[in-house]
Amino acid sequence: MTTYQGALADGRQRLAAADIASAALDSRILLKAATGVSDTDLIARGDSLVPEAPAAHYRTLLDRRVKREPVAQIIGEREFYGLILSVTGAVLSPRPESELLVDRAVAALTGRAGSTSLCDLGTGSGALLVAILDRMPSAQGLGVDISADALAVARANAKRAGVAGRAVFAGCDFCAGPLDLGALAVPYCGPFDCIVANPPYVRTSDLDRLEPEVALFEPRLALDGGVDGLDAYRRVMPHLGTIAKSDGVVVLEIGVGQDSAVADLLADWGFGDVETYPDLAGIARCVTACKCGR
Ligand code: GLN
Repeated sequence: MTTYQGALADGRQRLAAADIASAALDSRILLKAATGVSDTDLIARGDSLVPEAPAAHYRTLLDRRVKREPVAQIIGEREFYGLILSVTGAVLSPRPESELLVDRAVAALTGRAGSTSLCDLGTGSGALLVAILDRMPSAQGLGVDISADALAVARANAKRAGVAGRAVFAGCDFCAGPLDLGALAVPYCGPFDCIVANPPYVRTSDLDRLEPEVALFEPRLALDGGVDGLDAYRRVMPHLGTIAKSDGVVVLEIGVGQDSAVADLLADWGFGDVETYPDLAGIARCVTACKCGR
């Protein structure tokens, strides 16, 4: 039998021994998940005993974390832009730096007359689309992804955030050939005021150098950007102009050092007002452009 404090200390030690930098935080999150106890209760009950069933469950969660499974996948959720979203191994866990894209898309849509529309290419968990719709009550959007398992997560997240009535999701490989959204037979198929995308942008040769949480547990499909990491951008360029309104705005996430290459691609495809924005770490993380330049 162990106390809550003891369980936390054990967890911290096990995770630290597995080289996990966030051992203290992770053990607390996992203990809360296993016992259903809140942060305050965890402090108040520090010296009381954890019942055996949740204690055993906690140990299995620690076992998974020791193997470097991400906390978000273990507990099945992650916070993004103030929303709690569902996460599985079929999607990238939404990252804090991607919140920048929500800011830029909301800025682009704000002030537009009437109902605005957006498209999320490679929507994954639906994080971008759902967070933008949550902020823009008169907007509606389409999220596409090649993965049916990802689309199931995205639909669940739209429902969870209360935006399911304004979000549609459809299976579509936007990297292959012409993009005929009309053929999807969904209520919103463009043209769109805003197109957002967080495409796979990691160089293939860098994939195995990613932290184990990402390399071992997150979908390669959502990470592998080819030899120079830019394959998905090159493939998506021809579609952006055709699915955007004449004054439509494109908001793309980029990897480290990809800002000028992606900005050049957008300019080559005739987009104007190309701008890049840094994330909180100071890394150029987002490129925006307007079709009005075309
Ligand atoms: N930011 C992710 C990572 O490096 C990559 C996401 C992507 O390829 N779009 O962990």
